[in-house]
Amino acid sequence: MQRPKKMKTIGILGGMSNQATMEYYRQINHAVNQKLGGWDIAETVIAGVNFGNIEYFVRNELWDEAAKYLAGKAQALEAADADFVVCISNTMHRVSDIFCTEIKIPFLHIADPVGRMIRLRGLDRIGLLGTKSVMTDPYMRDYYKQNFGIEIITPNEKDQNTVDRIIFDELVKRELLEGSKREYLRICDDLCDRGAQGVILGCTEIFLLIKQSDKPDFPMFDTTSLHVEAIVEEALKTNK
Ligand code: GLU
Repeated sequence: MQRPKKMKTIGILGGMSNQATMEYYRQINHAVNQKLGGWDIAETVIAGVNFGNIEYFVRNELWDEAAKYLAGKAQALEAADADFVVCISNTMHRVSDIFCTEIKIPFLHIADPVGRMIRLRGLDRIGLLGTKSVMTDPYMRDYYKQNFGIEIITPNEKDQNTVDRIIFDELVKRELLEGSKREYLRICDDLCDRGAQGVILGCTEIFLLIKQSDKPDFPMFDTTSLHVEAIVEEALKTNK
């Protein structure tokens, strides 16, 4: 066998949060090793950003500043020989069009594998859980509508605040509390009552708290694992 083995280098915009980044790194390498066997894992370059900066930009709605910060990190990934770039935060995809203008390598959008899977399952009316920005800003809603014809349903304002608070105060610190899990599952029930056929776990830490097995009859689309699958598929395309 020819060594070094040919595969694409994955450029990871990480740190949003560090908990999600760890999961991406673990799941990507696990999947590559499952496919290739032996000691093979993925080739990665990780730009671990300071989540304190992201939290500040997000909560103060400083989107231009966030885009500029991430553009610099994306350029660093390209300079470090990444073949394509991924961003591990649903929230920061809102400025992906801006930070991607600074690089020439492709960007693998988190919502693409999610939208494809929802349509594959024959569904088109789906709940969305994520940070307040993901749930209230039209960016993700429009992306799913325009690219996949999926209608997005979000929780009511009070529940949006609860979902957002639990992400920032608990999940990004890997605090997994039973009461918070109950709240998330109750909010899923409410989305279901309002006509949602399933729910997008549209924040890359949510799968740490709730899983498909908690609600077997209500399809959950985990952005982390679906994104990882797409990333691995791209990395192993050997037309480099
Ligand atoms: N990991 C997050 C997401 O998927 C939330 C943290 C952030 O604000 O970037 O949206």
